[in-house]
Amino acid sequence: MNMFDLEEEKLVAEIMGRGARRILVQLPDGLKAEGPALANLIRTKTGAEVFVSATPAWGACDLSLDAASRLKADLLVHYGHNEFLRNGSNGIPVLYVPARSKHEVIPVVEKSIPLLQGKKIALATTVQHLHTLPDVQKLLEAKGFTVQVPGRGPWAHETGQVLGCDYFGLRRIQPQVDSFLIVGSYFHGLGAALSVEKPTVLADPYDGTARSLAADRDRVIRQRYAMIEKARKSNKFGIIVSTKPGQCNPQMAVSILQQLEDKSKNGVLLYADEIVPEKLMDFTDVEVFVDTACPRLALDDPERFPKPILTRDEIMVAVGAWTWEELLERGLVRL
Ligand code: SF4
Repeated sequence: MNMFDLEEEKLVAEIMGRGARRILVQLPDGLKAEGPALANLIRTKTGAEVFVSATPAWGACDLSLDAASRLKADLLVHYGHNEFLRNGSNGIPVLYVPARSKHEVIPVVEKSIPLLQGKKIALATTVQHLHTLPDVQKLLEAKGFTVQVPGRGPWAHETGQVLGCDYFGLRRIQPQVDSFLIVGSYFHGLGAALSVEKPTVLADPYDGTARSLAADRDRVIRQRYAMIEKARKSNKFGIIVSTKPGQCNPQMAVSILQQLEDKSKNGVLLYADEIVPEKLMDFTDVEVFVDTACPRLALDDPERFPKPILTRDEIMVAVGAWTWEELLERGLVRL
C-alpha cells in the first residue's frame, strides 16, 4: 500500500481543467516508483503525453523548469513539496502535489513526550504531516503542555511547516518555549536542532522512533568548527553556484569571491546542476569548496566530499566578517 496520498483524482481534474496536453512529472526519489502508474493514469484519463523525470528532485527549489521548456510541456507536476518560489516560473505552470503521508503520528508523539523538556513546546512538521498537527497539539495539551505552532518562513509557506533550509518560524518563537518537537524525518529534525539553541526532540513517523537530537547537534557543530578552522588556513577556494531555480545565487558567489580576494586569497566561481563529490573531484587545485546553494549539502555528510565544504554563512566566519558565536546565533541552516 502506498503510504502517501498522490491525489490522483485532483491531478486528472487539474490537467483536464487546464487543457494541458504534454506533462512533465517530477517525483522525489522515494516516490519515483509511482511514476509509471501515474503516467499511465494521466494518459488513459486525459489523453495527454507524459514524461516522468528520472533526475533527482530534492525540494521545490529544484523545479525542472528548463527540462519542461525543452520538452515543450505545458504543465509541470511536482510531487512531494508545496510551493517554494512565488515568482520562479519561466511561464510554465506548476501543479504542486505535497503527497500527504498516511503514516500514524500519534503513537510516535506519545513516545516523544518523556523526552520533552519543560512545559512550553514549539511544534512543527513537514508538509507531509501538516494535516496531523491539530491532533498532535490536542494530545500534547491534554498532557499538560502549552503548544506553539510557528508561523510561515520565507520558504516554508504554511503555518507549522519547516523545510530543510527554513526554520525561521521556530527561531522566532524560541524565546517563548522550553523545547521543540519536530514530527518528520531525521533530516528535518536535525535541521531544526542546528537552527535553534533549545532542546529538540524528533518524533519520526517513518521508523516509529522518538529521540533527543542534542548529541547530533553537538557532533555537527564540532565538525563545522573544525572545517571553518581548516578554511581559515587555506588559500584556494571553489565557490559553487547551483543551476537549480530556487538555489541559484550567482551574486552571492561573486560577493564571497570579492571578500576572499580582499583577504588575499584565491577563488574560482563554479557552476553545477547536481553538486556531488564526483563532479568536484576534478578541481584538484581547490583546497576548500563554498556552497552557495542548498546549505544541507555542506552540513549533512560532509565526509562525502573530497575537500572541506562550507556554507555561505560559514565562509563569513572563515574570512573574519562574523564571529563563530554570531554564526551560532543566526543558526547554521539558512538558504
Ligand atoms: S534548498 Fe535544500 S533544504 Fe531547501 S528546499 Fe531545496 S533541497 Fe530542501
